[in-house]
Amino acid sequence: MGSFLKNLKKIFTEPAGSSKSNFITFKVKCSKCGEEIEVKARSTSDISRIYEGEGPSGAAFFLRKEVLGKKCNNLIYITVYLGSNFNVVSRDITGGNFID
Ligand SMILES: [Zn+2]
Repeated sequence: MGSFLKNLKKIFTEPAGSSKSNFITFKVKCSKCGEEIEVKARSTSDISRIYEGEGPSGAAFFLRKEVLGKKCNNLIYITVYLGSNFNVVSRDITGGNFID
């Protein structure tokens, strides 16, 4: 399980030019129409601090976001737990898939 979770951090890419970006971006694919959607999560408004015991081991932040593409009305829900360096600890998605 440990190495599996470490691999998940690859989905997050930091925008070039800043190591202190306020955004975390990743891509999802709509399960209904196949549209690929880039999601930008704001570290200030979309991500909440959590405390030990509230999430998976090592999680320090929690992100939940609804994603709506342009091609259909299928709502995609993503839930991501992040570590203290905004590394991905655990992730879940409904209505679509993460694109690695
Ligand atoms: Zn769609």
